[in-house]
Amino acid sequence: MVIIMLSYSYLQKGSFGFVEKPKPKLLHERDAIVKVTLASICTSDLHIKHGSVPRAVEGITVGHEMVGVVDEVGSEVSQVKKGDRVTVNVETFCGDCFFCRHGFVNNCTDKNGGWALGCRIDGGQTEYVRVPFADQGLDKIPDNVSDRQALFVGDILATGYWAARINEITSDDTILIIGVGPTGICTLLCARLKKPKRIIVCEKSEERIRFINEHYPDIFTVTPDECIEFVRTHSDHSGADAVFEVAGGDDTFRLAWECARPNATVTIVALYDKPQLLPLPDMYGKNLTFKTGGVDGCDCAEILELIEAGRIDTTPLITHTFPLSEIDKAYDLFEQKRDGVIKVAVEC
Ligand SMILES: [Zn+2]
Ligand SMILES: [Zn+2]
Repeated sequence: MVIIMLSYSYLQKGSFGFVEKPKPKLLHERDAIVKVTLASICTSDLHIKHGSVPRAVEGITVGHEMVGVVDEVGSEVSQVKKGDRVTVNVETFCGDCFFCRHGFVNNCTDKNGGWALGCRIDGGQTEYVRVPFADQGLDKIPDNVSDRQALFVGDILATGYWAARINEITSDDTILIIGVGPTGICTLLCARLKKPKRIIVCEKSEERIRFINEHYPDIFTVTPDECIEFVRTHSDHSGADAVFEVAGGDDTFRLAWECARPNATVTIVALYDKPQLLPLPDMYGKNLTFKTGGVDGCDCAEILELIEAGRIDTTPLITHTFPLSEIDKAYDLFEQKRDGVIKVAVEC
């Protein structure tokens, strides 16, 4: 019997909608089929909708942020089995190529390597999803961690964790995080694990500043207008030791390097719509190190351990929950940033 499921899909530029599709089948020995239990919507889904992801394939089921239960595994899958609760990684990676072996899984050279799910192959805003390289892309959720606690592990939390890792934060550092949307908050939570001296968050939305003040009262908050002055006077060396640019706004790249002290590391997490200017004459003598975006989401097992230990909690980010049948409403709310939304959970 063929199971038909409703799959939220990229119909054409500017529109997503439900399409009936058969339940996916294993196509390779290293595949798994996962029954999606909880999914979310990411800003990258909106980028697909608006046609700014050229490699996105029309007709694919969207969604790359999800948790579920393993339904079926290929003969070469050994790390997960039917019935396991798992997080699904946004990135598909083989684990064998040069880049994978060095932890640069975003650059996996497999044809499906990198961000494929919900972009080039069917994703998770539906009932079942096929996950290639299941041993790499799935991580078992500990019994005492809920789906809601684990929902962001494979995407925005992996991103925050990666960003905090590559910036090499020390306990003497003043950290500046520009932009505290969902990914910025995840970056904040992961940077905080490194116990830096102070963290300053720069954000233009009053609603989001309120969210930070309410949930993370130990963090300094500033608006973009006050940012440079505030960072200069609230750091030990007239600038941030580590900067995370997570906003991707028109002027936030400039703000990021201007707020950095000489010899600081500026990690670019944001995905920009437009090219950014690197005014080298103005930067001369600052000896900055830039790390440019593209999450290597290969720390999911470690992140799940931190959640289990109570050291990371992203559940306050889930401000709204919808059933899959009402995902249109969820998109609308998320896209228009109404009603204090940070992230939505979609029950599949
Ligand atoms: Zn995403
Ligand atoms: Zn690879």
